[in-house]
Amino acid sequence: MEQGFFEARGRQASAQAPPFAVTGHVLSLIDPEDPDDPIRRQFFPRQEELVAHPEDLPDPLGEGAVEVVAGLLHRYPDRALLLATNRCAAYCRHCFRRGFTGRGSARAAGPGALEPAAAYIGEHPEVRELILSGGDPLLLSDWRLQALLAVFRRRRPELAFRIHTRLPVLLPERVTPELVAVLSRFHPLRVVIQANHPRELAYACLQAVSRLVEAGISVLNQSVLLKGVNDDSGVLAELFRAQAAAGIRPYYLFQPDLAVGTSHLRPSLAEGLRLFAAAGRLCPAELLPRYVRDLPGGGGKVAMASFTG
Ligand SMILES: *Cc1c(COP(=O)(O)O)cnc(C)c1O
Ligand code: SF4
Repeated sequence: MEQGFFEARGRQASAQAPPFAVTGHVLSLIDPEDPDDPIRRQFFPRQEELVAHPEDLPDPLGEGAVEVVAGLLHRYPDRALLLATNRCAAYCRHCFRRGFTGRGSARAAGPGALEPAAAYIGEHPEVRELILSGGDPLLLSDWRLQALLAVFRRRRPELAFRIHTRLPVLLPERVTPELVAVLSRFHPLRVVIQANHPRELAYACLQAVSRLVEAGISVLNQSVLLKGVNDDSGVLAELFRAQAAAGIRPYYLFQPDLAVGTSHLRPSLAEGLRLFAAAGRLCPAELLPRYVRDLPGGGGKVAMASFTG
């Protein structure tokens, strides 16, 4: 009852936040009897989103300052990041690009609009890898994705690609053989997913991951440490073991960014350090991601801890 009420208020609050959207697959992962289900918490808006914490920042990573041409972020010399679309299949309540994702009209970088970004990449040979992010780049149609990758490859034949996507977790049926065939034309190309709870590595997700891995595409996982979702050393260790078993390489565990209206999902840094150390004692070190945070205001990613046993 209470929960329904808070979620109703949360939907009002989400007028200032990403819209509410989930997929059928996400719903199938949620235990309807559990108001505090860890998957539910990631997608169903709650009243706490109305709370603006004094620490909260509208642009927590200072991305505005590194947007070199529209939709292209260049913070680290050898990597650039393209906001390929502002749409996602389901919107995460912890999204740090919440001023962008799902807001306003649908934006997708069409082949024409990509020219300035492609020209920039063409003029900056120090950029060795282009990250497609958003939003979720795999929401683009196969032909559009193919056109997008081709525009950059034409300028820079040796450019590596990396795709940041939650679709293998949220909409695994999107990883069709046709999509895998498109991606396979653009090696070297890696895919980074986001699974935050072991239950997200469901059978359909693992099949989607296998289709990618069989095509020679490495799949890595970055998780976000979230209160009420995975702020438990046993859950984290289970997540790390499950991803290893699926052939997914550990990448990052993020301390959540200071996005407005997400303070109820942020464990303290002290708590994060404690959890990461405790999880590290529960599974072999090679299964551990790096625990990092993006420095508020734009300092980039820094390691919070490396586990030394
Ligand atoms: C996180 C991020 C990257 C990628 O960093 P990696 O450490 O290579 O994963 C690149 N550009 C921007 C702007 C980022 O925020
Ligand atoms: S899938 Fe990524 S970009 Fe989309 S809402 Fe979730 S965290 Fe934000």
